[in-house]
Amino acid sequence: MDRFMEIAIEEARKGIHAGHGGPFGCVIVKDGEMIGRGHNEVILQKDPTCHGEIMAIHNACKNLGSFDLSDCELYTTAEPCPMCLGAIRWANIRKVYYGCNISDTDSIGFRDQQFYTEPADILEEIDRKECLELFREYHDIENKIGY
Ligand SMILES: [Zn+2]
Repeated sequence: MDRFMEIAIEEARKGIHAGHGGPFGCVIVKDGEMIGRGHNEVILQKDPTCHGEIMAIHNACKNLGSFDLSDCELYTTAEPCPMCLGAIRWANIRKVYYGCNISDTDSIGFRDQQFYTEPADILEEIDRKECLELFREYHDIENKIGY
């Protein structure tokens, strides 16, 4: 068994027995070394965005002092949801290893499957002109750091 997945499972196990949230743990690795870890804390933090991957990304970024996790790999006990996959891409993580798949997650009562198939019918564009003004303002700031 993979040693980093073993730590991810330990993280998840710690979380479920402490009542922090679902059985999801995550580890982030750079150059063969663990630089971040986390588990689902949705219940503990009363925050629906506190998935294991997000917590591990926070931890890794804090430890590295950077929002850029290029050259990092992520190990997670379950296939990342769309929110986490988005965060993983924003962090430039190059490889993701997961244990359980979306169907497995669905079978223990989580809603992942619905987020992959549901159209984004909650979206509506408003006040684009004013928001574009903000974009122009940002565009004109010199020496800003790009994402
Ligand atoms: Zn997630």
